[in-house]
Amino acid sequence: MTRTSVSAPYLPERIGRLFEIATNLFWSWDRDARALFRTLDRSLWHRTRHNPLEQLRRVTPERLADCARDPHFLKLYDGVTATLDRNATSADTWYAREYADIATRPVAYFCAEFGLHNSVPIYSGGLGVLAGDHCKAASDLGVPLVGVGLLYTKGYFDQRVRLDGWQEGSDEPFDPLTAPLEQLYGPKREPFLTVVRTSGRPVHVGAWLMRVGRVPIYLLDTNLEANHPEDRELSSRLYAGGPELRLRQEWALGVSGVRVLRAMGLDPGVWHANEGHAAFMMVERLREQITAGASFEQALAQVRATTVFTTHTPVPAGHDMFSEDLVAQCAGPVWEEMGISREAFMHLGYHPVRDHGQFHMAVLSIRCAAKVNGVAKRHGEESRRLWRDLWPDRPSAKVPIGYVTNGVHQPTWMSHRIQALLDMHLGAEWHWRMDEPEFWQQALSLDDQVLWYVHTELKAILLSFIREQARRRWAEEWKEAAHVVGAGTLLAPEALTIGFARRFATYKRASLLFRDFERLRKILVNPWRPVQIIFSGKAHPADDPGKKVLQEIYEFSRDPRLEGRVAFLEDYDLHLAHRLVQGVDLWVNLPRPPLEACGTSGMKAALNLVPQLSTLDGWWHEGYDGLNGWAISPTDEEMEADAADAADSEQLYRLLEEEIVPAYFDRDADGVPLRWTQKMKHALHAAGARFTSRRMVQQYARQYYVPALRGETSGDDAPTA
Ligand SMILES: *Cc1c(COP(=O)(O)O)cnc(C)c1O
Repeated sequence: MTRTSVSAPYLPERIGRLFEIATNLFWSWDRDARALFRTLDRSLWHRTRHNPLEQLRRVTPERLADCARDPHFLKLYDGVTATLDRNATSADTWYAREYADIATRPVAYFCAEFGLHNSVPIYSGGLGVLAGDHCKAASDLGVPLVGVGLLYTKGYFDQRVRLDGWQEGSDEPFDPLTAPLEQLYGPKREPFLTVVRTSGRPVHVGAWLMRVGRVPIYLLDTNLEANHPEDRELSSRLYAGGPELRLRQEWALGVSGVRVLRAMGLDPGVWHANEGHAAFMMVERLREQITAGASFEQALAQVRATTVFTTHTPVPAGHDMFSEDLVAQCAGPVWEEMGISREAFMHLGYHPVRDHGQFHMAVLSIRCAAKVNGVAKRHGEESRRLWRDLWPDRPSAKVPIGYVTNGVHQPTWMSHRIQALLDMHLGAEWHWRMDEPEFWQQALSLDDQVLWYVHTELKAILLSFIREQARRRWAEEWKEAAHVVGAGTLLAPEALTIGFARRFATYKRASLLFRDFERLRKILVNPWRPVQIIFSGKAHPADDPGKKVLQEIYEFSRDPRLEGRVAFLEDYDLHLAHRLVQGVDLWVNLPRPPLEACGTSGMKAALNLVPQLSTLDGWWHEGYDGLNGWAISPTDEEMEADAADAADSEQLYRLLEEEIVPAYFDRDADGVPLRWTQKMKHALHAAGARFTSRRMVQQYARQYYVPALRGETSGDDAPTA
């Protein structure tokens, strides 16, 4: 396998490895590497939205020459190159110490999207960001993870909201050459690594390598000249097109993903499908075993024992399924190669009770994975109930589906100002003691005045970021002042600032806050204790009810009766998410239980000392401890949706009026809200101790990866229906 060597632009020899640093995404969470690029050219750092490759393309030779002579810059540079060298091996990592016997056997991790950094827009939301955080934590811990995904050259859509509030997608195709990606070639320098058959045609599949610290992610690409025009589109856009395109995309991801790993000479000992989109990798592995001589039963037992499947939604419509005819068209006649009948093949994706004639990706995954998990305690229970038809002779409590609660990557999400605060208060020690939950007790003794000061700074950064965005749009295209107000220019630093940012799916109930308009208005426009709300988020391009909710919120943000205290920010992405979770005072989440599988943005906020108010769903069901925020207690789940909304909004308003607003505005002589800072410290305590991706990946390793790698996972407990 030969690789292109990345061509470095002109760089002074003393800092000749800058390009190498910029092409490994570890810079995105390494504090010194970020400081290095910030120092290289502060204005370019901001203007490129933190994209070092773009920076290196645009920085002047004079500036580079200055840096190569600047002792402060060189000290940072030498530290960062040392980290890069340390990352070349996994020696002295948590995993290498704990599991020396199997420390180098790869763990394959398949996902349809990866959200690592803004400069690689191949994610749409929660699932992708979670996968990105998983890979980053695996790198930190030395877990030998190898990621597999698709390179969407047209990215995910950029959101533009029309003047009437209706969301439209605007497409800016993204150029892989501006992203830290390296194209891989076959042994004869051909631009593909494997060929798969789908819909009766051969499809050539190439791959790009994205380095995430110690973790390589292989992104598959079918946009090659050798392919039929329709097949070139297979990897063009995330979650786009109808079922047929979607199915063929998933076939390409699963089947060619396995083959590309083989072509790279990798032999994973365990295979993790993060959500059902990647489940065809199990079929490909069955096929491999059978063509090598195993019986179907032996192959299935072997694949089950080495597969982990994580399900991410309790909403039945969120699970992919395709008609059997479509599957036959796309995948046929793979069953002949597998030595089984078409019926036996289709049975792999057959739901015993619902949706006959459909092939379920989640059912396929559950049949082929001995380890299946949900993403929060509550979601584990919900998943056991949802899938118990596959084990008709068991009560749902005995269904073999567990849970690993999601977590977020602390070095990515925690503001460097808060990291510096912890350095000061806890000493450098916290970097190696953060796996001890008791250690986080110390967050409770942070100095109130100091942390309040740091928080106030972060809030000011958010508000000035919002004004700058609005200024640009105002100059470029808006004609009416109402849009300038709606984009948040009247937001005030002294107001209690609520953040609500996530996908606009109806079950997330963004409009619950407005259910009683007059009551909310009174809370917001109070001149002595003002409150303001910042909304952001995209609706799925095919979700019109979600777009309606978004439009409603957009209109409220321009409603003069609310005096500029509601803002809607366009184009929610990783960059904006960082600003928001670090800069608001309170994070709000209002899913209708039990539909939120986990939710992770509240964890990101908590790592930045921002408490959460949420319904007791997803992670908050286990994360709320009475001290780290506020909770809306569950209503009867059998209740009609409208009655439940009424009851939940009543609690929401009461909490705001009687507890939250008073706590925020009750200040000591120095202007510090001591009741509030108490909540802030407890938020950090709970999130640091229990909701980081370090804890999550350690749990996956202990519970699932290591037993499978050691051959200790039994394929028993298979579905019986
Ligand atoms: C964290 C994150 C999400 C997921 O947030 P939820 O609270 O799980 O809905 C979505 N989009 C972006 C950009 C994120 O950073």
